[in-house]
Amino acid sequence: MPLRNKPRITNLWSKVVDGDKGEWYSRVVLESTVPFTYELKEIDGGLVIECSGAEVNMPEGVLEVNDGLLREMNIQQGETDTVRVDLALDYPAAYSLALYKDFPFRLAINLDRSYIRNLFTGKRIVIDPGHGGRDHGIKGPVSLLEKNVVLPIARNLEKLLRKTGAQVILTRSGDEDISLQERAALAQQAGTDAYISIHTNASADSGVEGAATLYSPVNSTSEKLARYIQEEIIKKLKVRDRGIAGQPDLAGMDKGIPAVEVEVVTITNIVEEVFLRGLTIQKRAAEGIVNGLIKYFAPEGLIVKGDKN
Ligand SMILES: [Zn+2]
Repeated sequence: MPLRNKPRITNLWSKVVDGDKGEWYSRVVLESTVPFTYELKEIDGGLVIECSGAEVNMPEGVLEVNDGLLREMNIQQGETDTVRVDLALDYPAAYSLALYKDFPFRLAINLDRSYIRNLFTGKRIVIDPGHGGRDHGIKGPVSLLEKNVVLPIARNLEKLLRKTGAQVILTRSGDEDISLQERAALAQQAGTDAYISIHTNASADSGVEGAATLYSPVNSTSEKLARYIQEEIIKKLKVRDRGIAGQPDLAGMDKGIPAVEVEVVTITNIVEEVFLRGLTIQKRAAEGIVNGLIKYFAPEGLIVKGDKN
């Protein structure tokens, strides 16, 4: 075969596909100049695609995804003209393949996300955008109000959770004054599985930055949920990890359900205030919280393995 006809892998990307017929999957696409032969193998914790007679024509290495199912992808040029793509999965997923033979040639792997849907079906989650109305929360150095930034994050979270089949209740959906008692009443309603309050951190020291997650000190499930959410938002936001801490005020929300307060970043830090205004952080913070909830609801000690369908 003349060299110019050798398949060159030019792109590897993924996205979450949310179809109008209820189909919901993580799609991985491998693009190449011409068709290549491949072999797909299931391994512990994911899938491997081996493309023979091909070469990598893009940066090699790990691409972080963290979409709640697909953790990362790793593309490497192997010996003897083989390209290896590793897909690391957080949870088991059925998959299907599709080929597109136009240019560029594409191999798509659709990873079914219904495992996540199963985890959330029947769950009732209360989301509390902090402050509201006359209580504007903390004001950033360039006048961003906490109450105005926690609301879009909460709405993004609501949207993502509804997609999983969970029942979602917002303590406020506009700029309303809501008392702590009203928030607690919603949190404590029968059947609630988690209470998530959204705030930003604040400090008199303008150098302080980063995200933290606080938990009700009353039960250990709150601390567990806080730990998972904190891990996942740090992966998404790439900001300083301020860790988790007990927040006695959350004890009133608790009633045996996990109650946490996510301090997305630090509004009093001028760099993070600018960051908070962006739609990207507002979306990523919500995705991080969902990923933390997935870990929380998933059974412990789950053996991760792909299933063929
Ligand atoms: Zn606040």
